Amino acid sequence: MTALLCGGIDLGGTKIEARLFEGPEASTTELRRIPTPRQSYAAMLEALEEQIRWLAEKAERADLPIGIAVPGIIDPESGRIFAANIPATGHSVRDDLQERLGRTFPVVNDCMAFALSEARGGAGEGHGTVMGLILGTGVGGGICVDGAPSRRHGGLAVELGHIGLPASAAARHGLALRRCGCGRMGCLETAVSGTGLANIAEDMLGTRMSGEELVRQGESGVLDVWADIAGECLLTIQLMLAPDCIILGGGLSNLPDVVPRLERSLRSHALDNMKPTRLLRARHGDSSGTRGAALLARR
Ligand SMILES: [Zn+2]
Repeated sequence: MTALLCGGIDLGGTKIEARLFEGPEASTTELRRIPTPRQSYAAMLEALEEQIRWLAEKAERADLPIGIAVPGIIDPESGRIFAANIPATGHSVRDDLQERLGRTFPVVNDCMAFALSEARGGAGEGHGTVMGLILGTGVGGGICVDGAPSRRHGGLAVELGHIGLPASAAARHGLALRRCGCGRMGCLETAVSGTGLANIAEDMLGTRMSGEELVRQGESGVLDVWADIAGECLLTIQLMLAPDCIILGGGLSNLPDVVPRLERSLRSHALDNMKPTRLLRARHGDSSGTRGAALLARR
């Protein structure tokens, strides 16, 4: 059974995850995680090669299709990466692996990989334009059209987290303006991500709390404000990209009742006579980055 075998690697800030997938549904059959060496690009590249060798051995196929998901902007021509959390900025992982191993490994942004995984055999299956929105430590997105990642200008995914937070929303809830990890002031990410939720808790309750803690304490006021602002974010997606559905992933997508909560919020912000985009929760959860990268390689 060698048909439809493929491998995916998710190069994250703390770990490099490799998964072997099998069958038409691309189900995980093997999984291996190793820490991401952060001291140098050379060490990181070596760790990537180690994961590639492991996948090829497990599959018993030297030419196993393997795709790689990375957290950053990838220049489509040069393959050069700009990334905050891995030591790869200015390097082309694609070209360097090709030179060392003599074959091609597609490299894709991790949010794009998430969207692709959900578009093919995930919650977005059967929809033409699928937007994947990750609400995790940060906020990011990817978009797939007819089961393929859309080609994006300059290698950007959907960098929604770094659009400005609407002034009306900040004023409505008396939220402080904060500096974002990207260096700009008042990005959406400072209110909509997991970190953003803790920021809202700090402004409203005087203490930083996670989504789980807020749920456990029955503190719905903070979650309502978060949902209100996340709804603005969803409206922006709908107005600009008009996807057939938006698939939610990342830690905050596991909050209880997250879909009906955000649906209510999106409806309250929608323009007159506008039918709100369908919201769905991701099907593939933790494996989204590796699975999407593997499907890209298998094509
Ligand atoms: Zn930002």
